Amino acid sequence: MSKEKVDVLIVGASLAASACAKRLTDAGLEVVALERKRLPRNKVCSGILSPRGHRFLIENFGPLPGDILHEPTSCRGVTFHFPSMVSVSMDFEGGPTPHLNRKFSDYWAVKRSGVTVHEETSFAGLESDGKTIRIKAVRDGRELQYAARYVIGADGPKSQVRHSLYPDYIRSIPWFMVGQKFQRIIECPLDEDYFHFWFHPDLGHYTWSHARNRRQIVGVGFPAGGNLHQYHSNVEAYLRDKHGVKLESAEELEGCAQNFGPSLINRYIFGKGNVLITGQAAGFFNMLAEGMSCALYSGAIAGESVVESIQRNRPVQEVYRKLIASEVKRCTDQWNPIRMIFGNPHEADFKASMRKLSKREQLAVIRDILRFLRIYAPYKWGRQILSQSLIRLVQGEYPSSRWL
Ligand SMILES: Cc1cc2nc3c(=O)[nH]c(=O)nc-3n(C[C@H](O)[C@H](O)[C@H](O)COP(=O)(O)OP(=O)(O)OC[C@H]3O[C@@H](n4cnc5c(N)ncnc54)[C@H](O)[C@@H]3O)c2cc1C
Repeated sequence: MSKEKVDVLIVGASLAASACAKRLTDAGLEVVALERKRLPRNKVCSGILSPRGHRFLIENFGPLPGDILHEPTSCRGVTFHFPSMVSVSMDFEGGPTPHLNRKFSDYWAVKRSGVTVHEETSFAGLESDGKTIRIKAVRDGRELQYAARYVIGADGPKSQVRHSLYPDYIRSIPWFMVGQKFQRIIECPLDEDYFHFWFHPDLGHYTWSHARNRRQIVGVGFPAGGNLHQYHSNVEAYLRDKHGVKLESAEELEGCAQNFGPSLINRYIFGKGNVLITGQAAGFFNMLAEGMSCALYSGAIAGESVVESIQRNRPVQEVYRKLIASEVKRCTDQWNPIRMIFGNPHEADFKASMRKLSKREQLAVIRDILRFLRIYAPYKWGRQILSQSLIRLVQGEYPSSRWL
């Protein structure tokens, strides 16, 4: 059996992987990325890019071509809807951002990174003797072997690289399902320039809708094990009755499991020895399931850490854990109530939009948010969020002792 030897093997060919690969190929390292699917591959995602994610793509990969975007090609911001029927719209700082078609944007980014991708090749396990990592992969039912000095797990929420290091982790965190249906529009008063989100405890843990390519997406997130069709039809009926959204029957359905949670409570997972975990596999997830910007930045930091480790002859975990603290701050700050009250950790100004409401509406919104948060009580995140927020306030950063 032939064995391919590289400096760095990346698992995944999405955004975290592209950003990581760019740093590594720029430094002249030999890098291969394994991607289990054939490229360009579909990715379940709304494709709403944050201003920071947009900057990263331009700075690292150049101007975005039109053919990697969905219609409408940009998004102005987010509209929150509350059970009291108050709606609050807020624009992204710096203007609208591109509405990415992940099938083509990820392919574009990975090509721009200069990495060699082995498509339809699934990572299946690794072993390390402390110097060389031997990786097993599978393509067309055949087993392949790779040898690398470093491995990067950029393989998303259900990361197999993470699983190979921490087999029990998958059972230690709560899992959520998200599902979205695509429906032709009969009538839709929701402004198509915004991403719409409902803080409604009776609809689901994460309920959204937006326009894409002349169809409306209606999506809902709920604890794993729930019935997507039931959740979805409940949301569809609500949108029809309360917002006048009339849609034809669903033509298409997509869904997947999500590891929502680790970033709220500063429980990231960054790997062991020369194996680094990054992107959503490491737990990066910003508010409103915005995961592209933190995938890009954390992936780039993982790549930089490898380069730094080689150049300065330092253990890569030590370098990575030091450099990644800035992205941890960015991401966990988005969930930190102290930062939300006294600062603005998001890239849209919710407080400014709230000030435009009457006092009565403001009170209704606060009451609705508190009611909505109660559905998250079973996960016992509240105290952890509060204690991490206080440590952040006193020490200026989140404790790295909570990371795996
Ligand atoms: C419904 C939904 C809507 C979302 N909307 C938005 C949004 O509007 N804006 C936003 O910023 N974020 C959004 N996100 C989140 C965002 O999609 C992710 O956070 C982001 O894609 C994470 O990037 P990543 O590179 O870490 O991992 P991923 O994008 O998950 O990429 C992982 C890659 O690894 C590959 N892979 C997995 N296992 C293996 C294996 N064993 N071997 C080889 N390859 C493997 C996968 O095929 C994939 O290509 C949304 C997510 C969902 C589910």
